[in-house]
Amino acid sequence: MVAMAEEKIYEMLWDCEFCGSKKLLGKTHRHCPNCGATQDPNRRYFPKEEDKVAVQDHIYYGADKVCPFCQTANGAKATFCGNCGGSLDGAQNVKLRSEHDGVTEDSVQKAKEDLAFQNSDWVKPHPKTPKWVLWMLGSILFGGIGFVCLGILWTEKVELQVTHHEWSRTIAIDQFKPVSESAWCDSMPMGAYSVSRSRQIRSYDSIPDGEDCRTVRTDKGDGTFSESESCTTKYRKEPVYDYHCSYQIDKWAFDRNAVTKGFGTTQEPYWPTPQIKECASTSIGCERLGKKEEKYLVYFVESSGETKGEKHDCEYDLAKWKSVLPKAQYQTEKSVIFNYITCDSIQMLDENGTEE
Ligand SMILES: [Zn+2]
Ligand SMILES: [Zn+2]
Repeated sequence: MVAMAEEKIYEMLWDCEFCGSKKLLGKTHRHCPNCGATQDPNRRYFPKEEDKVAVQDHIYYGADKVCPFCQTANGAKATFCGNCGGSLDGAQNVKLRSEHDGVTEDSVQKAKEDLAFQNSDWVKPHPKTPKWVLWMLGSILFGGIGFVCLGILWTEKVELQVTHHEWSRTIAIDQFKPVSESAWCDSMPMGAYSVSRSRQIRSYDSIPDGEDCRTVRTDKGDGTFSESESCTTKYRKEPVYDYHCSYQIDKWAFDRNAVTKGFGTTQEPYWPTPQIKECASTSIGCERLGKKEEKYLVYFVESSGETKGEKHDCEYDLAKWKSVLPKAQYQTEKSVIFNYITCDSIQMLDENGTEE
């Protein structure tokens, strides 16, 4: 939350560029009290803390208008220039100063130089990022993508010999038994027992804890500026405690796996037939069959080329696994970079090594 307190109005200051008088008042001194020169609104600046001059009962009509003929700043209500008498119809407001435009002699000098520089025909080109840096960043980005694409697309044909087939079938056995669990006590399931409670942090609350304030100064454009406090509420985090429960509960849970496995395709793969304790009504120690999994692998070895002897394996479904012939020669694509073979597109070769 941001709150703005009441504003206070102070005089902006300006320095006379003709006679060197300093810290002249922006609102009170429209002309230099020493030499009579007209105030240049571009030379207004925010005073240091000790130079601040308050404006009592300030009535604000708006920012000053700049005479389009002689550049003199005139009050917002003026219709004719107090210096040259020209019409102020459509005159622009003075440029507001920001606190960052610290107006010292140096910065005024620099502003003049900048202006002269901008008005000169010769404009220096912006320094450009060297081309080779862009090239390098580009290469790193596209190189990474390119490398992955190349790895997928750059393949070579390899000849494979089947070394062996392997299969495994697994059935999980679940048992109804006591299981240790924990939860926030308000969401503990029915049937929990042996409960132990402990206080733990469940969440955090944001508690308002004072304010961060800073002073904001704003140029009003009529030779004055306003000062106000801008405050933001600070928050601190405070833990919210709740009870966390550790408990036992009787439920179906994984107990063990029953596995069958074998090599070759001569014997048909079969499911394990585990001995389990089945019950008519559920009680501790009762068992039931759970998740089933089956896996069929064919192992290959590369039989020619530079990488002869390299091993690969492919996982298939049962029908495809059976259709791969033992000791037969196959051919497929291999990723040159990532060194994996495409298992789905293996093709059998006849004894002469040509595609069937
Ligand atoms: Zn002067
Ligand atoms: Zn004028």
